[in-house]
Amino acid sequence: MKNIFDLETQNNSLDGKITAGFERLSQVFRVLLWEKAKKHDLSPIQIQVLIFIKHHTKNKATVSYLAKEFHLTKATISDTIKILEQKEYITKTVNANDSRSSTIELTAKGLEMVLVTEDFTNPLFDLVKIVPEKEKLVLWKNLSSVIEQLHYLQVINVQSTCHNCGYFVQQNGNNYCRLMDIQLETKDIRLDCNDHKPVRL
Ligand code: SF4
Repeated sequence: MKNIFDLETQNNSLDGKITAGFERLSQVFRVLLWEKAKKHDLSPIQIQVLIFIKHHTKNKATVSYLAKEFHLTKATISDTIKILEQKEYITKTVNANDSRSSTIELTAKGLEMVLVTEDFTNPLFDLVKIVPEKEKLVLWKNLSSVIEQLHYLQVINVQSTCHNCGYFVQQNGNNYCRLMDIQLETKDIRLDCNDHKPVRL
């Protein structure tokens, strides 16, 4: 069976080149994150968890949610949380009303760590910034569509995008957010929204 790593398949097909391009980009992020991890004596997942906690609501900072978000087992996330707690980057407090749940928060030291690591995506961010606006819109439209389909196929677990939000409606070919009561143009479609309301697939 042919695949994109077969150079004949890849070089004779635009589909193969685009897919290989995505694969190359995933390597880029892995390398950039590893550089930060080595520099700060943390693992890539420890850095990702800290960054995630900083930018999301408290109800998402749970072992179950993080396990889904990062496609890892709850045991792996629990170990990650334990190490981050030992290194004093986070605090974990068991909720008084329900001993099975706990609140995970960044400490001041954790916040400092996020501030020096969360820019690991900047080399790509800087390149995207200089792409002409029209081309960016086409890129975003296609990229968000690919992500939506990967979520539908359950390749990507958690998605807090407009396309699978309970507040998202389509009318007369236009997209709307009922929560904010606004029309959503391509540039407004969100990949990760803290107001997202999950809907069943
Ligand atoms: S609440 Fe957020 S995710 Fe949902 S439709 Fe509105 S902007 Fe999109």
